[in-house]
Amino acid sequence: MSLRSQILVSLFLGVGLGMLAIHFGFQKLVVDWIKPFGIIFLNLLKMLAIPLIFVSLIQGISSISSLTQLSRIGFRTITLYLITTIIAVSVGLIWVNIIKPAESFPADQREPLIEAYSQRISSVKWEETKSRSPLDFLVDIVPENLVNAASENRNMLQMIFFAILFGSAMVVVGTVKAKPLIEFFTATNLVFIKVINIIMILAPLGVFAILASVLVETAGDSVVSSFNVLKALGMYALTVIVGLATLIFIIYPLLLALFSSVRIKDFYKGILPAQMVGFTTSSSVATLPVTMQQCEEQLKLNPSTVSFVIPVGATINMDGTSLYQAVAAVFIASVFGIELTLSQQLIIVLTATLASIGSAGVPSAGIIMLVIVLETLHIPAAGVALIFAVDRPLDMFRTTVNITGDCLICSIVDKSLNRVQ
Ligand code: ASP
Repeated sequence: MSLRSQILVSLFLGVGLGMLAIHFGFQKLVVDWIKPFGIIFLNLLKMLAIPLIFVSLIQGISSISSLTQLSRIGFRTITLYLITTIIAVSVGLIWVNIIKPAESFPADQREPLIEAYSQRISSVKWEETKSRSPLDFLVDIVPENLVNAASENRNMLQMIFFAILFGSAMVVVGTVKAKPLIEFFTATNLVFIKVINIIMILAPLGVFAILASVLVETAGDSVVSSFNVLKALGMYALTVIVGLATLIFIIYPLLLALFSSVRIKDFYKGILPAQMVGFTTSSSVATLPVTMQQCEEQLKLNPSTVSFVIPVGATINMDGTSLYQAVAAVFIASVFGIELTLSQQLIIVLTATLASIGSAGVPSAGIIMLVIVLETLHIPAAGVALIFAVDRPLDMFRTTVNITGDCLICSIVDKSLNRVQ
């Protein structure tokens, strides 16, 4: 069985086991005996994220012939990431205005729901997030201490910044003088690729264990009992999913057909393992090693393009997250009885784009950054409590789209560079 099929089967088995555990009441058994394998797999992936991007980015950049070429890749990548994010937010806004998921939300249920979840969300650093300015993510890119930056996966952008600086300096120094370093990074990179191959042997077991335990731990978590609230939340979740599906099944294939040389079928077949690991882990950063490997080995994209475009994408390009933030902002506003005007919805395009760039590629990052979108529009930030109950499954779907969006832009940038050469 191919790795792809193995992961797919374990995905269903994980969900199946989770449901059985909930039905027959053996949740604790799953948490005690199955969950640890999921944590091990997740840790293996996370362990690789920082050293992998560091080495592969430096290696990738140093193999680029000149700084002009590098800035061309950089400019194209960032521009395309911005364009797709803006498209994603717009798709979200269109769907939420058509479906209007908040309509059935009973106004008298608002306060009890916020109350019920406020304890759970008080552990999250809302205050810290609220006091941030939308451009703080730019300041965050530059590390004040490299060792600190390397010690935290959330600081990925800082490591990317340093790796780009270091790699660019190697290009300036020239291939003759920097030869030992180039050889070192090239060899280390090859070894890392082997390490990923070894870890991926565990992927089916990891996916199975994570899904079963996530299901067991989040089921029964909901304090929502009113039928109308459930209905509104269901419609809201459906709106997000319809929006995400529009990206995956309509917009992305269209962009692929127009601007890349990868066939649509090969693209989706090639990146399926990365999508499944992303779906399971809800983390673009943890999935990064798999995404890079699939882009290089299955889509046959140039490794130096992949090593730049994918890590940058995993940190700043979050189409799924931005779409979700737009839908969530409008939903929460309507529950509070605030009707957003067209110009306010245009502000959402800007703020959701920035907030998704600022969201780290880790679980639940999107809902934390949503606070910034809400604050800008003067919607009560406590409103995030309204959508808390359905956030985990939506996180799984939006992460899958985030990863797909990165691979799409990588294919497009790769083609555009090949054309130039
Ligand atoms: N979990 C998402 C990711 O890693 C971010 C989010 O919460 O939207 O891509």
